Amino acid sequence: MKLHDLGVAAAAQAIRKREVSSVDLVSHLHTRAAAMSALGAFLATDTEAALAQARAADERAARGEGGPLNGVPIAHKDIFVTRGLPSTAGSKMLAGYASPFDATVVARLGGGETGDGAAPGAGAVTLGKLNCDEFAMGSANQNSAFQPVRNPWDLSRVPGGSSGGSAAAVAARLLPGATGTDTGGSIRQPASFCGITGIKPTYGVCSRYGMIAFASSLDQAGPMARSAEDCALMLSAMSGFDRRDATSAERPPQDFHAQMLQARPGATAARPLQGLRIGLPREFFPQALAGDVEAAVRAGLAELERLGATLVDVSLPRTELSIPVYYIIAPAEASSNLSRFDGVKFGHRAADHGDLLDMYKKTRAQGFGPEVKRRIMIGTYVLSHGYYDAYYLQAQKLRRMIADDFQACFRDCDLIAGPVAPSVAWKLGDKSDDPVASYLADIFTLPASLAGLPGMSVPCGQGEHGMPVGLQLIGNYFEEGRLLHAAHALQLATDFHGRQPASLDGA
Ligand code: GLN
Repeated sequence: MKLHDLGVAAAAQAIRKREVSSVDLVSHLHTRAAAMSALGAFLATDTEAALAQARAADERAARGEGGPLNGVPIAHKDIFVTRGLPSTAGSKMLAGYASPFDATVVARLGGGETGDGAAPGAGAVTLGKLNCDEFAMGSANQNSAFQPVRNPWDLSRVPGGSSGGSAAAVAARLLPGATGTDTGGSIRQPASFCGITGIKPTYGVCSRYGMIAFASSLDQAGPMARSAEDCALMLSAMSGFDRRDATSAERPPQDFHAQMLQARPGATAARPLQGLRIGLPREFFPQALAGDVEAAVRAGLAELERLGATLVDVSLPRTELSIPVYYIIAPAEASSNLSRFDGVKFGHRAADHGDLLDMYKKTRAQGFGPEVKRRIMIGTYVLSHGYYDAYYLQAQKLRRMIADDFQACFRDCDLIAGPVAPSVAWKLGDKSDDPVASYLADIFTLPASLAGLPGMSVPCGQGEHGMPVGLQLIGNYFEEGRLLHAAHALQLATDFHGRQPASLDGA
């Protein structure tokens, strides 16, 4: 096995047993990332700093110490602020911005103090910052102000977005795991497009402190890795109550790995999912769903059935409405959150300006890209006097009804399943001049986001052109353990998640 084939769990174990040193792993991955820079996955790296963290981790391992991810190299979506590495959110507005503190998720995964009086972090080594759509707005990672990201399965295709750098890096084995954020699908959809595993937990499970805000009532952090087991280990480290985030869920720390392994009552070795009822919303299998995606999703579902699950028909009647609802609420919140970028407090300031108003105008005109400007304008419009009731308030009411529809489904099933996206990854440039076409492709990820429910993308095969397809699993609130359990059972029985891009064979 090559060093870059080690996943999160395998790397942590090898470092703990001192079979592999974190320093060797970090230098190997650094060389590999440099060789594959054409992917555009990284926005910043600091090898010296990473090697220093790796040396500290190896010393901890030598003393028989260290957290659950001691020495494991990871990298963060550039939406998380980090000390010592630039934090840009993929925007010119924040080019070169240096944060004075680490996001809670970053601190908890890392090897130092977590800064909140809690135990030190899990011990992971930060290799760098990963490319993303500007302020996490996008579904293809073509909205980064710095460079597009390419899909390692086919360099002429998009990796998905907005956590495209994270997905591409993990799929190309530049990293065993990475962080992502998901506001309307940005962990699940790139995971699906790149053939990796990703979970967006219940809203509130991971702290948003230090996550550059897009739409605060939807933004949620989560892990992206090659298996459910790797995601479970990362999620245990990065989650938990944080008094610095007022919407953080007040619960004791969770061991998602133990929850993933918890056997179901009545389960047998051959049928670990015995008795699990999986609901298939009929609206998740519309005419417009690409045939290759449907075939792969059905193949994944057949495996789950073979493992003991029962498939039941359910309905989420307002699935289509989740698109207009999301594309009103998310821009509304974004227009408010992004008002802080005014040339005074952070980042870019126009060099050549007249009075204060002119400075604001020029700074924002220069600093934001076209998609961000579009959303600020939409958001400002739907919140303005006279339109608030017609759009924003109406969207809020529908959001509640979408959440209620899920609760009705969960009376008949334990999990919900369907596709993550209506097609496999598209060609670079496709949909770039048609924002609405890109918004429509978010149809299957938006409902769980609006409801605040946990959702996961699990590889379930390949579609046209050999491109990966993800199966989406959605659970009820705080049922990440149940999602991870089902995904892990599938991954023990199949090798969908073990496949890798042919271009990487022998690399
Ligand atoms: N594609 C969606 C959007 O553009 C979701 C992005 C996200 O989850 N951050 O808003």
